[in-house]
Amino acid sequence: MVTERRKTREIRVGSVRIGGDNPVVVQSMTNTDTRDVEATVEQIRQLAEAGCEIVRVAVLNEGAAWAIGPIRNQTGMPLIADIHFDHRLAIMALEAGADGLRINPGNIGGKKNVDAVVDAARARGASIRVGVNSGSVEKALLEKYCGPTPEAMVESALGHVRMLEERGFHDIKISLKSSSVLHTIDAYRLLAGRCDYPLHIGVTEAGTLLRGAVKSSVGLGILLWQGIGDTLRISLTDDPVKEMAVAWELLRALGLRYRGPEIISCPTCGRTEIGLINLAEEVERRLEGVTDSFKVAVMGCVVNGPGEAREADIGVAGGRDKGIIFRKGEIVKTVKGGARLLEAFMEELDSFLEERRK
Ligand code: SF4
Repeated sequence: MVTERRKTREIRVGSVRIGGDNPVVVQSMTNTDTRDVEATVEQIRQLAEAGCEIVRVAVLNEGAAWAIGPIRNQTGMPLIADIHFDHRLAIMALEAGADGLRINPGNIGGKKNVDAVVDAARARGASIRVGVNSGSVEKALLEKYCGPTPEAMVESALGHVRMLEERGFHDIKISLKSSSVLHTIDAYRLLAGRCDYPLHIGVTEAGTLLRGAVKSSVGLGILLWQGIGDTLRISLTDDPVKEMAVAWELLRALGLRYRGPEIISCPTCGRTEIGLINLAEEVERRLEGVTDSFKVAVMGCVVNGPGEAREADIGVAGGRDKGIIFRKGEIVKTVKGGARLLEAFMEELDSFLEERRK
C-alpha cells in the first residue's frame, strides 16, 4: 500500500488544483519555440489528448511572453511560464494570461523586482513554482555543503521561498530536481519534512525514452510510494507526448490514478506458438487513445493463458492453429487460425467497451 499522502497546502494553476486532497497532477513542457503559436498549440493539443493536465512553456523573450495569450485561448490548457532571471518577462507573461510562473525570486535582481512579480502574480491569481536544480544551487551553498547535495538544494529552495513568504505570498509549489535519482529522493524527503507546500516532483535530464522512463519511475515511484509528490513531470529526451504514457503507467502501478487500459502480456516461453510480441504490440497500438480503465491480457498459450490472466476483464491467448478469447478467465470464443485472431479480438473488445459505456 502507498503511504498516506503528505498533507499539503492547496494551490491552483488555472482551473487545476494541486496539493490538499487533490490527486497527483500530470504536467509536461513544450519543446517548440513558444513564439510559434501554431506549433505550440498543436503540441499542447497532443499532450492534452495523451493526458497532460498542466503545460509549462519556456519564455525567453517578449515574443514568447505575449504568445501565452493566444496559446492559452486556443488550448484552454493551464499554462506555466518558465522564466530565468528576467522579472519583466514574468510580468508580461502574467499579463498575457499565464496561470503560473516557474521563477526563482533570488535570481531576478533584488527586492523591487520580487515585489513587482509578486504583485502581478497576486493580481492574476497565479501561483509560483520555486524550482531548484542541482546545477542552479548558489555558489555559497555549494561551498558550504561541498557540492549540490540534497541539503544544499533544500536550503536554496527555502531561501527563494522565504522571499515570497516575506511578501505574504503562499501560493507556492517547490521542485528540487537532480539528474541523480538518489539525490532527488533524498532532497524531496528532506524538504517534505520542512514545509507544507505542494511538491512538483521529477528527475531532471533523466535521458532518452528507456533510461529516462526507468530513472523517473524509480525516483518518482519511491517518492509517491512514501506519500510525497503533488504534481509530476517525467523528463525525457524525446517527444514530450511520450512522457504522458510513462506518467500514467507510473500512477497506475501505484494505484494512485487510472487512465486508459492496463495491458497485461506474458513474457513468452517455450510453449508460445504464435507471434505474441506482434500481437501484444498491435493490441496496444489499437488501444491508444482509449481512456477507459480496464484490464486486457494478451497471453501466449491457450492452456495456461486464461488462468494466468484470470483478473483481466478481457483477454486473448494464441495457440498453433487456434486462439481463444476470454473474459475474467472464462473462454467466450474460440477462433480457428491464428491470422484471424487479432481482428476477432478487436471485435470482442469493441463490444466489451460498448457494454461498459452503456
Ligand atoms: Fe508461457 Fe503460456 Fe505463460 Fe505465456 S502464458 S509465459 S506462453 S506459459
